[in-house]
Amino acid sequence: MHAPDTDDEARWQAVETRDRNADGAFYYGVKTSGIFCKPSCPSRPKRINVCFYATREAAEAAGFRACKRCKP
Ligand SMILES: [Zn+2]
Repeated sequence: MHAPDTDDEARWQAVETRDRNADGAFYYGVKTSGIFCKPSCPSRPKRINVCFYATREAAEAAGFRACKRCKP
């Protein structure tokens, strides 16, 4: 069992380093822009505005649109 916070920290690390190996493992939504991205997206969101989703469907269900830059 992982603590949810620990998982989110690992995901955030992947976003910060634009880890292509993490692409497909999860997506992140940016609350301020209403878009969701792959971990390797060149956009630089603030941590506080980011939430993580396991699938693209989950991100879309939460009301996010696909990013035009990274096309998740
Ligand atoms: Zn993106």
